[in-house]
Amino acid sequence: MPQIIDGKAISATIKDELKIKVEELSAKGIKVCLAVIQVGNDPASSVYVGNKKKACAYIGIDSLAYELPEETTQEELLKLIKELNDKEEVNGILVQLPLPKHIDEDEIIRAIDPKKDVDGFHPQSVGALCIGQPGFVSCTPAGIIQLLKRSDIEIAGKECVVIGRSNIVGKPMALLLLRENGTVTVAHSKTKNLKETAKRADILVVAVGKPKMITREYVKEGAVVIDVGIHRNESNKLCGDVDYDDVAPVCSAITPVPGGVGPMTIAMLMHNCVEAGDIR
Ligand code: NDP
Repeated sequence: MPQIIDGKAISATIKDELKIKVEELSAKGIKVCLAVIQVGNDPASSVYVGNKKKACAYIGIDSLAYELPEETTQEELLKLIKELNDKEEVNGILVQLPLPKHIDEDEIIRAIDPKKDVDGFHPQSVGALCIGQPGFVSCTPAGIIQLLKRSDIEIAGKECVVIGRSNIVGKPMALLLLRENGTVTVAHSKTKNLKETAKRADILVVAVGKPKMITREYVKEGAVVIDVGIHRNESNKLCGDVDYDDVAPVCSAITPVPGGVGPMTIAMLMHNCVEAGDIR
C-alpha cells in the first residue's frame, strides 16, 4: 500500500509551530494582523473566510473582517485596500476570490502592497518567485512543497510533471519544484500524449479541475501523486482530480481528498502572515 500523505496532521503541526512563533513575536511587542475582505456573500467564500478567521484565532493572529456588499464598486474596494496598505498594524491583506463580475480582479490584486500580499498573487510576488528572490508564494503550491519535504520525499533530480498551468496553482507549483531542483514539465489542455507525459513523472502534481480524471493509466509504478482538485460528487462526497481507488495501488505515496492538499493552503496562508509580521 502507498504512503498516505496526511495533510491534516502536517498542517496541524505547522499551525502549532506558528502559534509558538506568534507568542515569541508577541513577547517582543510585535502583533500579527491579517485583514480579510469579502465582497458579496457567496456561500463557498463565506466558508473559506470563516476557516481563515478560525485559523488566525488558533494561532494568535488578529483578524480584521471586511464584509462588503455585492454592489461594492471597484473604486470603493481600491480605497479600502489603500487604507489597509497604509495601516501600520495590518501585516497581511487578503481579498477573497472570486470577486463579483463587475470588479477587475487583476487591478485589485495589483493594488495590494506586495509587502502585505500574503496570498502571493501580486505580479511582483510572482516575479520574485520566478527569479529566485524573496517574496510571498502562493499558498497551495507552497503547501505541497511542505507536504513533500515533511514526508521525506526528495524533489532534487526527480522528474516532476504538473498537470495544470493556472496562475494560482500550476505555474507557481512548477517554479517551486524547479527551485527545489526538480526537472519540471508542465502539461495543460493542449498537451499531446498527456498519458505518456504524466507517466514520466516521479512526482505527479494534478491540478486540472476535472473530477477523478487521472487514473492509473497516467501514473508510473511507484510515483508520488499529489491531488490538488476538490469536487463534490453526485452523492455530495468530496473527491479530487485523481481517481484515488484506482491510482493508490500503483503509486508509492498519495494525498487523499479530503485531508491532503486542502488543509495545507490555510496553514501556508498563516505562515505568510507570520512572516509578514516578522519582517515588518
Ligand atoms: P483552473 O481551471 O484555473 O486550471 C486548470 C488547468 O488544467 C488549466 O491549466 C487547464 O489547461 C488544465 N486542464 C484542463 N483540462 C485539462 C485536460 N483535459 N488535460 C490537461 N490539462 C487540462 O484550475 P485551478 O488551478 O484553479 O484549480 C485546479 C483544481 O484544484 C480545482 O479542482 C480546484 O478546485 C482545486 N484547487 C484546490 C485548492 C486547495 O486548496 N486544495 C486551491 C486551488 C484550487 P489550459 O490552461 O490549457 O486551459
